[in-house]
Amino acid sequence: MNPCPCGWRGDPSGRCQCTPDQVSRYRGRVSGPLLDRIDLAIDVPPPSATQLVLDGAAVAPESAVVREAVVRARARQQRRQGVTNGRLDAAGTARHCVPTSAAQQLFATASARLGLSARAYHRVARIARTVADLADSDVIEAAHVAEAVGYRRLPAEQPARARA
Ligand SMILES: [Zn+2]
Repeated sequence: MNPCPCGWRGDPSGRCQCTPDQVSRYRGRVSGPLLDRIDLAIDVPPPSATQLVLDGAAVAPESAVVREAVVRARARQQRRQGVTNGRLDAAGTARHCVPTSAAQQLFATASARLGLSARAYHRVARIARTVADLADSDVIEAAHVAEAVGYRRLPAEQPARARA
């Protein structure tokens, strides 16, 4: 979704004239139960024209490296549990997506702060498992949980409580 009704919020040009009220009404149109079903919410600032030209040349090798990491992570998931993390059911998630005890503490604090539902908690656990898999890690560390939790909300957004 766009960051605001006009789509320019956060752009350095300052083109966005939307009021905070308009922005929160716009974002409020996406219901909590719907957001609950979305795995990743990431703020993606628009690239400048210069960036597009400069980065264009570097896209191919970088994307090949990423692809290789994804293929490796998926193979690791298949070996461990017979399906990819995204297809784990609640029991499979409880079995295969358990963070280290230090990471569990962080996870508990973060989910309380974000007001995560049970469903959202399981989603974040599976994403943390994927982050760990992409890092070739058998265990889910605090850093993996922290990254997964970060994908639950847009940085510019007010506390998630408001849309729970
Ligand atoms: Zn705007």
